Amino acid sequence: MTKTLQHFINGKQIDGVGKRFGDVYNPATGEITGRVPFATAEETHAAVAAAAAAFPQWAATPPIQRARVMFRYKELIERNMDEIAKLVSSEHGKVLSDAKGSTTRGLEVVEFACGIPHLLRGDYTENVGTGVDSYSVRQPLGVVAGITPFNFPVMIPLWMAPLAIACGNTFVLKPSERDPSAPLFLAELFMEAGLPEGVFNVVLGDRQAVEDLLTEPEVAAVSFVGSTPIARHIYAAAAANGKRVQALGGAKNHMVVMPDADFDQATDALMGAAYGSAGERCMAISVAVAVGDAGDAMMERLAPRVRALKVGPYSDPEAEMGPIVSAEALKRIEGLVDSGVQEGADLVVDGRGLKLQGYENGFFMGGCLFDNVKPEMKIYQEEIFGPVLSVVRAPDYDTALRLVNTNPYGNGTSIFTRDGDAAREFSAKCNIGMVGVNIPIPVPVAYHSFGGWKNSLFGDSNVHGMEGVRFYSHLKTITSRWPSGIRKGADFAIPTMK
Ligand code: NAD
Repeated sequence: MTKTLQHFINGKQIDGVGKRFGDVYNPATGEITGRVPFATAEETHAAVAAAAAAFPQWAATPPIQRARVMFRYKELIERNMDEIAKLVSSEHGKVLSDAKGSTTRGLEVVEFACGIPHLLRGDYTENVGTGVDSYSVRQPLGVVAGITPFNFPVMIPLWMAPLAIACGNTFVLKPSERDPSAPLFLAELFMEAGLPEGVFNVVLGDRQAVEDLLTEPEVAAVSFVGSTPIARHIYAAAAANGKRVQALGGAKNHMVVMPDADFDQATDALMGAAYGSAGERCMAISVAVAVGDAGDAMMERLAPRVRALKVGPYSDPEAEMGPIVSAEALKRIEGLVDSGVQEGADLVVDGRGLKLQGYENGFFMGGCLFDNVKPEMKIYQEEIFGPVLSVVRAPDYDTALRLVNTNPYGNGTSIFTRDGDAAREFSAKCNIGMVGVNIPIPVPVAYHSFGGWKNSLFGDSNVHGMEGVRFYSHLKTITSRWPSGIRKGADFAIPTMK
């Protein structure tokens, strides 16, 4: 059954009127399950206009009332967790336990947003001068646009919208065209939670919708998550149009395994971090840097585990890894594996060409494991975004740190060691945004903030936590004196307080 998806504008589902559509697939079967309309400029404008019209009243709604909507939203997400996970898995391909885990990480941002009255609380100083008081408040920006990638169709919209809305903004989401059903369901749940019409809108589309959002005068701020070339473009274009912008990009995360590490623990960590969600995570570990004689110990443990990976459709409770999101992505990943072989890396486990009985048209591949990868190889330099782990051998710690620090990406990294000094030195000296010590995927919880360095984030603000509150609000400082205060007459020098 192929369903035709609809935009969600001003609290209603709206048929797409344009001529351009995209296909949505079930990656496990290779079947087309949906048609997604690509918004015209008029449709994108309608979503922004609805958000702009809803803004004044929503901005004036007391934060405690906005928080109550978030409390109801939290309950609805919990109650609908199975349905949400199924929607994510059926269009993305990831296994259900993973879809639920990532939804829970998004839910935690909703829980954080429930505390908005406290988070927005301002400062007050009495008597900054005689009879003069000063106070600071944070006020919403207006319409915020969120542009999100395919790999977390629920978690990443939830990194943005709950906090933006709790701060008093209204929101237009442009989710990935590859798996839009789950974000559309989030919109319905917002309505059920009592959010007024027009406060949260979803416009479906491709790059055209994004370009239109970037030039809409009513859009005050843009939150983007996706690949680095697009993130760089969004950052420049949104800023050129006078918008506040945060643009999170791609990654090439390294895990350094020191010779004194617990190799069994490090192997478990690498299996989940490299192959979970078929490697389609911005915090996936794609490079393991084995220091000194850690290399042999790691390869001995890793190779049989990668060969034994259980690959299957999301409906199989035994599956550890699902298919790749699309036939195009599968081809690109397998092409990169071919290049690794041609450039002389040792392909110890080859997952190319995997066919599953009953799912012959699915976009499956098995896990791939390379040893002796060199920094000049394409598999080292490019973000593969698939189930491919490259092991690089480094003679010593300094070489490992240099690899991490000279890589153009800076999203996440981790070190596995029993040596507190090494861990402390690594955490202090690496130029990466999120660092794990014996933790492979150090994704910060909702009340801390998520974001990388270098080519993994353009802009000066991370997402969620207090960085999110600051990004989605303007700071205003009011200095006041009442007529009963001291009268001095006109003063032509810059005011100083006495
Ligand atoms: P993508 O960059 O192709 O797409 C992201 C969004 O941008 C989508 O909504 C898409 O429709 C839109 N888009 C695509 N091409 C565009 C163009 N030319 N102009 C304007 N908009 C365009 O990314 P993807 O393939 O959906 O997601 C995977 C990428 O996202 C990976 O690089 C991954 O590392 C990255 N990612 C980063 C983070 C992070 O937090 N840093 C998190 C998740 C994913």
